[in-house]
Amino acid sequence: MKISFDERNCPICKNPALDMSEINPDIDPGSDEKIIKKYWAGFYKDNVFFPYYRCNCGFLFNRKFPNQESLQMLYSDEKDNVIHGDLELDLKTKKYYLKQLNFSVTDYERKYNILEIGADNGNFLKLLKKIYKNSDLYAIEPNRNMRKDLGEVTNNIFGSIDEINKTQKFDIIIGIHVFDHIPNLNEYFTKLNEKLSPSGFVFGVVHDEKSLMPQIFKHRWPIYRLQHPHLFNHISLNNFFLKYDFKKIFIKRTKNFFNIGYLVNQLFLSLFRLRVRVPNLFSVGLKLGNFCFLYKKNNKF
Ligand SMILES: [Zn+2]
Repeated sequence: MKISFDERNCPICKNPALDMSEINPDIDPGSDEKIIKKYWAGFYKDNVFFPYYRCNCGFLFNRKFPNQESLQMLYSDEKDNVIHGDLELDLKTKKYYLKQLNFSVTDYERKYNILEIGADNGNFLKLLKKIYKNSDLYAIEPNRNMRKDLGEVTNNIFGSIDEINKTQKFDIIIGIHVFDHIPNLNEYFTKLNEKLSPSGFVFGVVHDEKSLMPQIFKHRWPIYRLQHPHLFNHISLNNFFLKYDFKKIFIKRTKNFFNIGYLVNQLFLSLFRLRVRVPNLFSVGLKLGNFCFLYKKNNKF
């Protein structure tokens, strides 16, 4: 199947981007299907992504990106969502997210309807289940290979938001590394918002394009990649939620847990294009490249 593209204006303010791109790859895949398919999933030595443009409102995004149909094809080739495959680190990272969330949503005995979009291996839902014991959990996960793991934590698993019962409402919607993967952000968020109860929460984690990591790595920051049609910073994310009249509860830098060996290997690969083999040794939690956020629907309440 051929890859088709959308020409995009700024997903937040709808204006066209500035003429000059701000972040440029070593290799711009243009419309080359072979290159796009090869580099779509995973991290490579070569630095391949669509150029990122800055809008006057501050948002960073690709002007050209595969359309919805083409995306479905590209994502369906993927096997496993957890990029580095290290479940222990994934769990440590998610435990830290939960700590940041549950200081703010503290009514542990209450029955919440909680939906996680892109629920992946279900690790975060498992953690939630321990704390919000009386709550009902729901998951959206398009990748069928993940459903078996998810089945251990909930029976309410959907392939997309459109499969969920029209009248169903949620009190908390969670999206961990989801919002920077969704090109038609407004359309998708409007659907989510319809499913969110009048004083519901949205909790998420995204990459931070103004963090220390891109300052060190420049255009070799591994997060500039084909799967990210846009990237947030604290201000652009806040602009997005203000547009929908949400109230900010917090934006916080969050920790990611890495094996030291992996970090060093990645650093050499990105900066010097060298493959080195440093053993994993031990893991560290670093507040380097991501932030989490909690917003409440409806500013007025
Ligand atoms: Zn804009």
